[in-house]
Amino acid sequence: MVDIIGGGILGLSLAYELLKRDIPVRVWERASTLGGLMGRTRFPELGGLECDRYYHAILSSDRTLMSLFDELGLRQRLHYTATKMGFYHNGHIYPMSTPLEFLRFPPLRFIDRLRLAYTILVCRRITDWRSLEQIPVAEWLTRLSGERTVRQVWAPLLRAKFDGDFSHVPATYIWSRLVRTTDTRTKGGSREVMCYLPNGYQELIDALAVAIRQRGGQIELNAAVETLRVEDNRITGLVVNAQEISASNIVITAQTPIARRLLPPEAAMVSERWGQLDGFLGIVCMLLVMRRRLTPYYTLNITDERIPFTGVIETTNLIDPQYVGGYHLVYLPKYVAATSPFARMPDDELRTVFLSYLRHMFPDIRDEDILAIRIGRERYVEPIHPIGATDRIPPITSDIEGLLLANTGQIYPQLTNGESVCAFARSVATQILPLVKNTPSAAISLCS
Ligand SMILES: Cc1cc2nc3c(=O)[nH]c(=O)nc-3n(C[C@H](O)[C@H](O)[C@H](O)COP(=O)(O)OP(=O)(O)OC[C@H]3O[C@@H](n4cnc5c(N)ncnc54)[C@H](O)[C@@H]3O)c2cc1C
Repeated sequence: MVDIIGGGILGLSLAYELLKRDIPVRVWERASTLGGLMGRTRFPELGGLECDRYYHAILSSDRTLMSLFDELGLRQRLHYTATKMGFYHNGHIYPMSTPLEFLRFPPLRFIDRLRLAYTILVCRRITDWRSLEQIPVAEWLTRLSGERTVRQVWAPLLRAKFDGDFSHVPATYIWSRLVRTTDTRTKGGSREVMCYLPNGYQELIDALAVAIRQRGGQIELNAAVETLRVEDNRITGLVVNAQEISASNIVITAQTPIARRLLPPEAAMVSERWGQLDGFLGIVCMLLVMRRRLTPYYTLNITDERIPFTGVIETTNLIDPQYVGGYHLVYLPKYVAATSPFARMPDDELRTVFLSYLRHMFPDIRDEDILAIRIGRERYVEPIHPIGATDRIPPITSDIEGLLLANTGQIYPQLTNGESVCAFARSVATQILPLVKNTPSAAISLCS
């Protein structure tokens, strides 16, 4: 029996993969619903409209996800859309979806545009990412794209993504990002193809939950794990909602700072090891439900550094609005370090600030266009992998027998997304199989 802490996509796909390998599992989720960051939000004021709390695209090149959709019978539910991308630069919006639009991007000189295209080509050819992880991203991009393009395009985008400071970011970041997104092009490479499930990622979460229960797995909701029990250097149990529960193999899928808080004093050395690399960026994200379409773009990148949000993501340019009550959904994310004033800004103030900048970008927005607003905040979203820090990534196994860690902080050099998370879950299931195979069934009894 394996006890999995966390019922997000990672915990659920790991549970499913272990059950496929005949290992019984029990999932502990502190929230009342499954899905974690991929969960839903509800608008009672709009007749109970439900949609993804945050934007979540699936790419046509997401191989692990596609095979998971096949296994769970979801593949035929997928819808495909050739999406558009734009750039907001110096008060203007430029389309940047096709190679031709790319080569016409007015803010850059022709030679700079060619070098930008060359950067993408070079990225696609690199297979050994290790050569990139010691190089600061700005240095590498300057070498390929030129100083002017870095100043005008890359630096503002990176500053927005890393809340102002990207000096610690290795070149692997851009490499991973470009390789994933350029893999999704239509034939001839003209457009990016994305997919969606009509009920959002929740369909995958629900299908995983059904598959887990059908295979005899247990899922416990409203079950906050408070601490783990360790005796003689091995896991003996966990405490959930003040109840003692026997356990012999525990996988924590919650992010490392949360995982460390669950460790008892006997696991101080493990905590120290995990603490060598436990940085995460958070996010604040304003979701607007609109009466009308705002832009034709799925993603509008912003290079104007006065605008506080990272981009304008209009998911109803991917998802047919008929699946979200005929409304238009616009997400305004801002990645935040723990110390960012935006992380602590009260909702009313954040709403005023974000809306004033959105109106600055789109002066024709009227009050009646915006039907509802939600502000989401998450402390741990994007793991931070500084230059040359691969050796500091915590291993899956620990010095305590039966204590395992499998979370997004260990996914590298891929960026964290549904595809990389599900691929990681598969690989973790294979790696831990020999360790968890012969667990005595007595270990699953409740002992309080
Ligand atoms: C704004 C935004 C946009 C994104 N866009 C995309 C995208 O376009 N495409 C894409 O593929 N990915 C995207 N992602 C990333 C994706 O959401 C994450 O990579 C993924 O959801 C991480 O899943 P997880 O299971 O590792 O973590 P989580 O979803 O955080 O799950 C961890 C779970 O553990 C539970 N938990 C924590 N502590 C305890 C405890 N003590 N006891 C019990 N349970 C506990 C939490 O409640 C949570 O449910 C985006 C994320 C955000 C925030």
